Amino acid sequence: MDQDCIFCKIAVGEIPSDILYRDDVCFVIQDIEPSAPVHLLVIPNDHFTYLDGLTVEQHGMVAAMFQAAAHMAAREGIAKSGYRLIVNQGDDSGQMVDHLHLHVLGGEPLGALA
Ligand code: AMP
Ligand code: ZN
Repeated sequence: MDQDCIFCKIAVGEIPSDILYRDDVCFVIQDIEPSAPVHLLVIPNDHFTYLDGLTVEQHGMVAAMFQAAAHMAAREGIAKSGYRLIVNQGDDSGQMVDHLHLHVLGGEPLGALA
């Protein structure tokens, strides 16, 4: 755990949050400033800042995050209408929280990528 990381604090319950889904690898919360009618964050239980530097074994965690995203999309009723998965990584992406996470966006036509 990173003591200064907001997602680590949510992971261990130090900051209360409505956990919509949890498994051995990751958990899912609603984004606090949603950009779409459905805007979820899939967050690994353990602290990783970036995708690069992950070991082969840790890439299994990334696969599990995609699986959780698909599961939640079905639960939110957007599996058929479609959704977008985004990982912001590094300065140019505008990454604000330095704990790897997957955005799940949907519930309306999202338009083209800017
Ligand atoms: P990113 O730019 O990919 O790092 O996005 C971080 C996301 O985390 C933003 O969309 C924020 O709205 C969201 N966020 C920050 N703090 C919280 C929180 N306490 N609970 C839920 N979402 C949060
Ligand atoms: Zn963290």
